[in-house]
Amino acid sequence: MNRKKTAIYPGSFDPLTYGHLDIIERACEIFDEIIVSIFVNPNKKSLFDLEERIDILKNVLKNYNSVKIDYFEGLLTDYLRQKDIKVVIRGLRAVSDLEYEFQYAAANRTLYPEIETVFFMPRLRYSYLSSSVIREIAKFGGDVSKMVPPYVAEKIKEKYYKIK
Ligand code: ADP
Repeated sequence: MNRKKTAIYPGSFDPLTYGHLDIIERACEIFDEIIVSIFVNPNKKSLFDLEERIDILKNVLKNYNSVKIDYFEGLLTDYLRQKDIKVVIRGLRAVSDLEYEFQYAAANRTLYPEIETVFFMPRLRYSYLSSSVIREIAKFGGDVSKMVPPYVAEKIKEKYYKIK
């Protein structure tokens, strides 16, 4: 059967960085369709709310024809079952990511044995980037233009201008 190869890339994307984008571009080379899906965590205070994060993803990824945007709450494995998708994409920045990612992938496999987690490594120059680093720099008015796409940098500026 020649079924379209679709994978889900779940994450907080608060906000999207060049590291996430690097992973998405690599995944696009291998899969027919990627669903970038925002995990909505009601217990975590986010910088950008869900609507803003969706707007950012839609804008930055508008020319990526094989990418779709979505969001989910609750267990990733329930969401995968609903969508009938069995491949999860994750990024590995450094050895330090491995422990958490190993636990996450193993737990997901226990809950849903048919799924496969595929890891991509970003370019070395993005391997230090995380959304929390961006939020920290942004809070103090630092320049994040080398770390996030221009649209994200613009949204960060707007946000902190409003807060001040
Ligand atoms: P963060 O850890 O930055 O808050 P997310 O929760 O949005 O990010 O992460 C979603 C996935 O993207 C995770 O697998 C994470 O390891 C990966 N990821 C995040 N930043 C990078 C990066 N700079 N390079 C590669 N993968 C990354």
